[in-house]
Amino acid sequence: MIDYLIVGQGLAGSCLAWQLLQRGKRVLVLDVPGNNRSSMIAAGLFNPITGKLMTRTWMAETLFSTLFDFYPQVERTLNEKFFFPMPLYRPFLSVQEQNEWMGHSAQPENQKFIDRIHTTSAYGDQAHDSFGGIVIKPCGFVDVPVFLQTVRSFLVQQNAFIEEWFDETQLRHSPTEVTYKQWKASAIIFCTGTSKTNLWKAAPVKPLKGETLTIKLDQKPKLIYNRGVYVVPGKENLYKVGATYETQNLSESITEAAKLELSARTRKLLTLSFEIVDQNWGLRPTSPDRRPMLGHHPDSKNVVIFNGLGTKGVSLAPYFSAHLANWLTGAAEIMPTVNINRFKALYSKS
Ligand SMILES: Cc1cc2nc3c(=O)[nH]c(=O)nc-3n(C[C@H](O)[C@H](O)[C@H](O)COP(=O)(O)OP(=O)(O)OC[C@H]3O[C@@H](n4cnc5c(N)ncnc54)[C@H](O)[C@@H]3O)c2cc1C
Repeated sequence: MIDYLIVGQGLAGSCLAWQLLQRGKRVLVLDVPGNNRSSMIAAGLFNPITGKLMTRTWMAETLFSTLFDFYPQVERTLNEKFFFPMPLYRPFLSVQEQNEWMGHSAQPENQKFIDRIHTTSAYGDQAHDSFGGIVIKPCGFVDVPVFLQTVRSFLVQQNAFIEEWFDETQLRHSPTEVTYKQWKASAIIFCTGTSKTNLWKAAPVKPLKGETLTIKLDQKPKLIYNRGVYVVPGKENLYKVGATYETQNLSESITEAAKLELSARTRKLLTLSFEIVDQNWGLRPTSPDRRPMLGHHPDSKNVVIFNGLGTKGVSLAPYFSAHLANWLTGAAEIMPTVNINRFKALYSKS
């Protein structure tokens, strides 16, 4: 008998497995590594001020203090490196924007996220910033493929990982336990991203396609640049540029249109010349209100979901995996804003 069966080992499944093991629970994780799952494509960026309107991320303080504990703790325990704090620079596009941010910077709730405001060019040798720009903190990136591989190796050592595609027809569940093939558990948690399952077919997980470029730069950027696109360090002298946001054309392939869009935006951001060496695509699992989805199935308390990490899996997964683990172990209630039961009307119609 195990305590929890977890389906999927992307950011959601990996963080949840870790949190449950930390609480002394026995887990078994099922996954088949695939290159286009969202977590493998993610640039891994975390940044508390995002979007065209540069708004503060929902729950930024809580999420960022949790992630600054979580990833280094996994690094220390498993003796691997995948967490890279690094300042992020966002050039201003006009004097008006510069003035607005001088105003915002006086507000106490913004101060902790603003490292510095430059009113004249500060990084003109690398980026187009004739109106100056803002250095945002705390930012950085997680090398997500290394994080996933590290957690997977640890799970394998613990006999807690099986490389297998979960076959729903083999699942039986009663009010007290779930049975899958030879395994019995007290609950099963679906961390399956955009993959559809029958049990959760009415959960409103909406795929949002994203494409990224991998570019080669002759010079090392002094920090992460972000305006229109982000340029985040990858392997050796390679950098990830992203991303596109596509809700309509969900073709499972890279596109010429995305390549043109991303390279035009990169030229607008960087003064450095670059060479494109690769292009990738993935599907982000988003929710209609852009909040994660946690909780149990309407018909079964031990069939659970952890999904909807959307565009911010790196910052959301550490906090909400702990939140879900606390609920599973009876230590807390699920926050109403993230409880899957907020969509009850939607998914009980099916
Ligand atoms: C182009 C792009 C760029 C991004 N950049 C960033 C970024 O910079 N910062 C950030 O925070 N977020 C970013 N994201 C978003 C981030 O990738 C997601 O929020 C996060 O990875 C979602 O994780 P997940 O575990 O929910 O889903 P997934 O990563 O999709 O993982 C689901 C896992 O479940 C497995 N699975 C599904 N069904 C089954 C089954 N039946 N049996 C076994 N296994 C199964 C899949 O194989 C997969 O491994 C980006 C996403 C994209 C596409």
